[in-house]
Amino acid sequence: MNALAPGQSVSGDATGMSHFVVPGAIDTSHGPILYLENISVSFDGFRALHDLSLSIQTGELRCIIGPNGAGKTTMMDVVTGKTRPDAGVAFLGQTLDLTRLDEPAIAQAGVGRKFQKPTVFEQHTVWENLELASAGDKRWFAALRAALTGEVRRRIEEVLSLTHLEAQAASQAGQLSHGQKQRLEIGMLLMQQPQLLLLDEPAAGMTDEETAQLATLLDKLRGHCSMMVVEHDMAFVAALAGDAGRVTVMAEGRVLAEGTLDAVQRDERVIESYLGR
Ligand code: ADP
Ligand code: MG
Repeated sequence: MNALAPGQSVSGDATGMSHFVVPGAIDTSHGPILYLENISVSFDGFRALHDLSLSIQTGELRCIIGPNGAGKTTMMDVVTGKTRPDAGVAFLGQTLDLTRLDEPAIAQAGVGRKFQKPTVFEQHTVWENLELASAGDKRWFAALRAALTGEVRRRIEEVLSLTHLEAQAASQAGQLSHGQKQRLEIGMLLMQQPQLLLLDEPAAGMTDEETAQLATLLDKLRGHCSMMVVEHDMAFVAALAGDAGRVTVMAEGRVLAEGTLDAVQRDERVIESYLGR
């Protein structure tokens, strides 16, 4: 699915130097798509992340669980460039230093983020939302527009199928159910062909049926992109992780445990800090 996006953009960074960011050029030839080592973030002296180390393999769907305040959202903020870590190493693939790129450059490099609240264009149809989401840097290639249109249409159809919104293509986004809106927003992210998709509590506020449909969608995305999913709903985590998938448990700004869901659920430290009652 990751066709080489044409063109490149230049962005500044904290040092005032420029980096060339080529979409689709994350080097994952050997090793992880995401590598975090000893990341620390403090807010007014409070350590939200404390020597956090975590890596995600290319193609992996990693579930992250942990109590409120564990630092899960802050960790995603570091990955997307919204928050600068005070210390630590953060790489996307082998070559992109996330601590030296700004938010637009990181998004351009292939990191897509889904927030809890859907942000679709309510007055537009589902199809138009997907079209708008793909518009991004099209103006660079006005000359190629005719050729791209067919490609964009093909991608919209693929995304409608993945998100199971074929029947809603002509509906106004404002008329969709909560679950359909969430799937549309993921579809809008997919139009950008992300290599790493971050989802922060995507099942929050969903009915059981909507949650199951979301699990089906994320399952279908395996192989299209790597994913990091923060979630509280343990049935949803179980559906995504299966018997063999790795689950990371965060607490107090660091990784408390990592392993299969079954293994972390039996871990004494996890039971004490999170799952215990
Ligand atoms: P989680 O997503 O695991 O619930 P967060 O990353 O949202 O945890 O928060 C971790 C801790 O950092 C919490 O104690 C939270 O209050 C604090 N925190 C997060 N963002 C900020 C901020 N911008 N300013 C001050 N404190 C913050
Ligand atoms: Mg959070």
